[in-house]
Amino acid sequence: MSSKIEHLKDLSTLVSLCKRRGLVFQSSEIYGGLGSCWDYGPLGSQFKLNVKLAWWQAMTRRSDVVGLDAAILMHPTVWKASGHVDTFTDPLVDCKDCKTRFREDHGMKDGKVVCPNCQSENVTEARNFNLMFKTFMGPVEDDGAVVFLRPETAQGIFVNFENVQTSARKKIPFGIAQIGKSFRNEITPGNFIFRTREFEQMEMQYFVKPDTASDHFEQWKETRKNFLLALGLKEEKLKFVEHGENELAHYAKAAFDVEYEFPFGWQELEGIHNRGDFDLKQHQEFSSKKLEYFDEANKEKYVPYVIETAIGCDRLCLALLCDAYREEISELDNGKTDKRVVLGLNPQLSPYKAAILPLSKKPHLQELAHKIEADLITHWEVNYDESGSIGKRYRRQDEVGTPFCITVDFESVDDKKVTIRHRDSMEQERIEIEQLTKYIADAFHQWN
Ligand code: ATP
Repeated sequence: MSSKIEHLKDLSTLVSLCKRRGLVFQSSEIYGGLGSCWDYGPLGSQFKLNVKLAWWQAMTRRSDVVGLDAAILMHPTVWKASGHVDTFTDPLVDCKDCKTRFREDHGMKDGKVVCPNCQSENVTEARNFNLMFKTFMGPVEDDGAVVFLRPETAQGIFVNFENVQTSARKKIPFGIAQIGKSFRNEITPGNFIFRTREFEQMEMQYFVKPDTASDHFEQWKETRKNFLLALGLKEEKLKFVEHGENELAHYAKAAFDVEYEFPFGWQELEGIHNRGDFDLKQHQEFSSKKLEYFDEANKEKYVPYVIETAIGCDRLCLALLCDAYREEISELDNGKTDKRVVLGLNPQLSPYKAAILPLSKKPHLQELAHKIEADLITHWEVNYDESGSIGKRYRRQDEVGTPFCITVDFESVDDKKVTIRHRDSMEQERIEIEQLTKYIADAFHQWN
C-alpha cells in the first residue's frame, strides 16, 4: 500500500470542513448570512480559546508583562489623539461599469487603476473612506453622542499606561498584553476568517527606554517567531518582511510583518512595530495628563517608546488550520484509493484531547467507557462517541485533530486495559486504564 500526502490547496475545502464539523459557521446563516461575519461553533470556540490561552500564557507568564481587558467603547477623543479619525482611511474607488467598489491599491495594474471585477478602467477618483464603525451612546442620536467601536485594542493599553504601571508597580521595561474584539468597516473583506469586519486581536505593547528600543524590537521579533513555530506553523511558510521607509504607518519608527503563505498567497499574519513615543505623547497632549515614566535609579524622566506585537486571533486560527490540514491518500490492494483527512494540530490547540470509543453498545462496555470519560474530563476536553464503525469514528476524530483515540473493547472489562491510537502515526498501544491520565499528560509534555 503506497501513500502520499496532499496539503490544503483550496480554502473552500477548509471552509466546508469547518462548517460540517462545527468549527466555523457563517453568521446569521438562516437569514442568508452577514457579509464577512463568522461564528465559531462548539469545536471552533474551544479551538479559538486554546489559541488565545497559548498566546496569553506566552505573554503573561513572564515577570515583565501583565494583562488588561479594556472596554471596546472609549472616549471619542482617544480616536482623535490616535490619528484614527483623520487617517484611518482607505482610498475607495467605484467602477462606473459594473459598480464594484474596491480599494485603490487592490486595483493597481501597471500604474493604472483597473476594476478587479470587470477589468474596466472607467472608474471614479479615489475617495477616502474611514474604516471605523460609528454608533451613538445614550438615548439621543446626535453628533455629540457619537462613539466608535474600537478598530484596534492598542489604545486601551496606551490610555491605561499610568494606571497599570502604578497599580502593578512595574518598572520599565514592561509590557501590557490584551485580547479583545476590534471592528473595521473593511471595504474588501474576505478569504473566510482572514479579513473580517469584526475580529479579535491579541496585542502586546512593551514600554521601553527610548535608547533601548531597537534591541527590544529585535528580541520581540525572535520571541514571536519562536512562539509561532512552537504552535506548530511550518517554518517555510513564515517570513519576516521589513517595511520600507515610505510604507511605515504614521506612528511607526520601524515595522516588520510576519507573513504566512495561505492557500491564497503570502499575507500578513502579525505586525511587530517600534511605535516610538508617538502614542503616549499624543494622549498626553489631548488629555493634558502627563504620561511620563520616572526612573528612580537614574533620576530620569521620559516618555517611553513602545514596541508592539499585534496579531489577529482569527487570522492565526486560519493559518493554524490551513497549516495543519492534510490528506493522506493511499492506494489500496483492491485498486481503490482511500483518503484520510487529518488536522495535525499541536495537541495543545486541539478542541478534543482524546476520544473515548466503546467498541460496542453493550451496557458493560458503555459503563466502563463512561467511567473513563468521567476521569479524563476532569483534566481535558474529551469526546465520547459510540456511533458508527470504529474506523469511521477514528476518521471523525482525525479530521478535527484529536490526538488520541481510546478504544474500550470486550477484554477491557477483564484486563483493565484499553487501546490507545495515535492520530499521526495511527499506531496502537494497549495500556492500563489506571495509567491513562499519566500517559496522556506525559505525551503532551513531550510534544511541546
Ligand atoms: P491589513 O494590512 O491586513 O489590513 P493591518 O496592517 O491594518 O492589516 P494591523 O492594524 O497591524 O493590521 O493589525 C494587527 C493584526 O490584526 C494584523 O496583522 C491581522 O492579523 C489582524 N487584523 C487586522 N485587520 C483584520 C481584519 N479585518 N480581520 C482579521 N484580522 C485582522
